[in-house]
Amino acid sequence: MSAPDEQTQSGPRAVPGSVDVAVVGAGFSGMYLLHRLREMNLSAVVFEAGTDVGGTWYWNRYPGARVDVESLAYSFSFSEELEQEYEWEERYPTQPEILRYARHVADRFDLRRDIFFGTRVTAAAYDERDAAWLVRTDRGDAVTARFLVMATGCLSFSKLPEVPGLERFRGATFHTAHWPHEDVDFGGMRVGLIGTGSSGVQSIPVIAEQAADLTVFQRTPAYSLPARNRRLRPDEIADMKAGYRAFRKAQRESGFGVPVAPATKSALEVSDEERDTAFEAAWESGSLVNLLTAYTDLAVDLAANDTAKRFVHGKIRQIVKDPQTAEDLCPAYPFGTKRPCLDTDYYETYNRDNVHLVNLLRTPIVEITEKGVRTSAGEYAFDAIVYATGFDAMTGSLTNVDIRGRGGVSLKEAWSAGPRTYLGISSAGFPNMFMITGPGSPSVLSNMVVSIEQHVDWVADAIDHLDRHGLTTIEPEPQAQDAWVDHVNLVGGFTLYPKANSWYMGANVPGKPRVFMPYAGGVGEYRKKCDEVAARGYEGFSLSPDGPAQQRPADD
Ligand SMILES: Cc1cc2nc3c(=O)[nH]c(=O)nc-3n(C[C@H](O)[C@H](O)[C@H](O)COP(=O)(O)OP(=O)(O)OC[C@H]3O[C@@H](n4cnc5c(N)ncnc54)[C@H](O)[C@@H]3O)c2cc1C
Repeated sequence: MSAPDEQTQSGPRAVPGSVDVAVVGAGFSGMYLLHRLREMNLSAVVFEAGTDVGGTWYWNRYPGARVDVESLAYSFSFSEELEQEYEWEERYPTQPEILRYARHVADRFDLRRDIFFGTRVTAAAYDERDAAWLVRTDRGDAVTARFLVMATGCLSFSKLPEVPGLERFRGATFHTAHWPHEDVDFGGMRVGLIGTGSSGVQSIPVIAEQAADLTVFQRTPAYSLPARNRRLRPDEIADMKAGYRAFRKAQRESGFGVPVAPATKSALEVSDEERDTAFEAAWESGSLVNLLTAYTDLAVDLAANDTAKRFVHGKIRQIVKDPQTAEDLCPAYPFGTKRPCLDTDYYETYNRDNVHLVNLLRTPIVEITEKGVRTSAGEYAFDAIVYATGFDAMTGSLTNVDIRGRGGVSLKEAWSAGPRTYLGISSAGFPNMFMITGPGSPSVLSNMVVSIEQHVDWVADAIDHLDRHGLTTIEPEPQAQDAWVDHVNLVGGFTLYPKANSWYMGANVPGKPRVFMPYAGGVGEYRKKCDEVAARGYEGFSLSPDGPAQQRPADD
């Protein structure tokens, strides 16, 4: 059921039969893209499965949900007026605060009138003769568009655990990515929670405070750092607002979309004392990136990484009183190779009498039963089960739409051995289709609002370029795509990321090819490459004048 303040589709508003651009998704990507397209006087329609804007922050309403990039950095930069007028409350805002921001942006830029909510795109097929996409929805709409943009999100296609009996449980079940819009009260309940990625780490301390009893089922422990969240002070907001332009420039040129002072030393060339002092400062700072970027080689050298790993293990053992629980919470994989989490009292929560950790590496789940969860050690009875089991990341929301390009080939078939893109923006065989933060771009290794704005601007400029030059189609050349895929693999191979069985690698989805999907070369370097490609007349793309071009007069 949707909350009363949401804009469900009402009235007989007709979906247009033909537009310049069809956009799928009304998260931050789809919202900004719609704004850009309108500025270019292009007609656009946005389809959104949810009943309001916000994407991630519309769906993930679980207790404790927060962003782990600071609010003043995790925000749009395209409008100085928006930057200046919006008042963030917390250093790391809660899901309701970010959703409020998304709604504010939608209202301020009058976005809703071109968004069709409660509408899922089920299929999109490219018509080679007309050089157009035919987009179909679950409401029976069929729209023809010159361009298709998948703004469907890297983390929006949720998944459940692969255990038998999910449908048998008689109690209440929840998935963190489909949390009810009404408050959920776990008061007096015995709750089982499966999954200890970011959503689990954020929700466990909050659910533990409400529930009579909470049992956490963990397959792989997370590295989690204290968020040290707090309300923002007026003086720091004012400083930030005064310095926004320089800050945005630094964000765009940085590695992760979050400016940090570059490290100058190897973790192995300093004394233990010096290193501990630096790590301690990073731990105290309440930041996701300060620990990983404290030394030049933590992300690329196993021995250097071991120093950070040992430091966090030490913290876990210090905080968690029960020695076995502490050992179970210490990750074996290198620090930072799965997405680290920011938390509020995560490890401390395991000192509560009503919280228990089950290590699934020792006693795996056998099945979900009518009463609860059965592991190889026995059955646990619950009133509610929470699945914090994450997403079919980066490709799930793309390959689960029946997208067919040249010759009727589906994207799913084309990517059966792993995603293949040029710049993470487009894929050979799928002309005039763009992805926002697709696989092969920095995406989930970055502050995503920075990456989203960069992709949207690049795509909008590319469409503008075609129109101004009387061109109709843009499509990656296969050899340019192959070279980009090789480059993404090469750069990924220099890092320690491929050493963990993470969702970056597709390892959380059985049968999914193991490929390191994001581009690890850094936001700033990646932007330079994209800009160079455009400046060289879209090098590596084939631009074609075939078909019914819609040339607009050049004004430059
Ligand atoms: C719990 C959680 C915490 C996160 N924390 C951070 C963070 O701290 N920092 C950070 O940088 N990023 C974070 N992210 C990543 C976050 O997804 C991005 O920051 C950003 O919100 C993505 O915006 P988007 O518009 O690209 O995608 P989304 O927000 O995922 O929006 C995509 C939209 O597309 C819609 N959609 C998908 N398929 C279809 C279809 N077939 N038809 C119609 N609609 C469709 C979905 O309903 C969704 O609303 C987090 C993600 C999650 C899940």
